[in-house]
Amino acid sequence: MASPFRDLLGLVLPVECAGCGVDDLAWCPSCAGRLAGTPWRCDTRVPRLDRMDGRGPLPVWTLADCTGDVRRAIIAWKDRGRADLSAAFSRAIADQARQVADELAAWAPIVVVPAPSTAASRRRRGGNLVDTLASGVASGLRAAAVPAEVAPVLHRARGGDQVGLGARDRARNLAGQLWVPDRRTRDVAGRHIVLVDDVLTTGATFAASRRALERAGGVVVAGLTLASTPGSGRPPALPPRSAVHTSDARG
Ligand SMILES: [Zn+2]
Repeated sequence: MASPFRDLLGLVLPVECAGCGVDDLAWCPSCAGRLAGTPWRCDTRVPRLDRMDGRGPLPVWTLADCTGDVRRAIIAWKDRGRADLSAAFSRAIADQARQVADELAAWAPIVVVPAPSTAASRRRRGGNLVDTLASGVASGLRAAAVPAEVAPVLHRARGGDQVGLGARDRARNLAGQLWVPDRRTRDVAGRHIVLVDDVLTTGATFAASRRALERAGGVVVAGLTLASTPGSGRPPALPPRSAVHTSDARG
């Protein structure tokens, strides 16, 4: 229905859902619903997260496939100036952390480490947006009585963007580019760490982050992401250990 007053507001503050594009809502209930379900395990999609000691893959939980409206919204958030989604995404991942808190409680107190971005992308985005997700994870864990604190200890050297690279090239692109500065080592040495990123794509960022944290003496026990890219890695060499967290919730 036409409304001159609403049209006028629209000229002042044009807004549309960053996912589906519906007018007048920054993040509509339907799109928000795609990040509001039960967390499920996405680590079986990225065999490079397998641990060498036979303990199986690093558990990584997520909320949605990185497709369609979810993918559009995450790209808008990171690269198209829609930092106004930070609060909604932080709340979604906080709720996710609360739901998996029981599985992490044995590792408490937990250090929550955001995946790092390059200085260039921090400048472009006004900071490391993943830091806000890490804050959400820590607050979700604390809401479930699991002590947790954020420590943005990972640094990332200037390097090519990961976008458009396959699994092998991503891993090569990141090799040696992530590290924990000496002055931050005490924040992670001997501590149990949950890694946080917006999307699990090939697992290259998580794998390189884990190596850097382990070199600093930390123990990475799990990861949390908003979304997971389907079919991006090689098929697993072995069948998934368990389908408990990987079925049903994808639809
Ligand atoms: Zn929407």
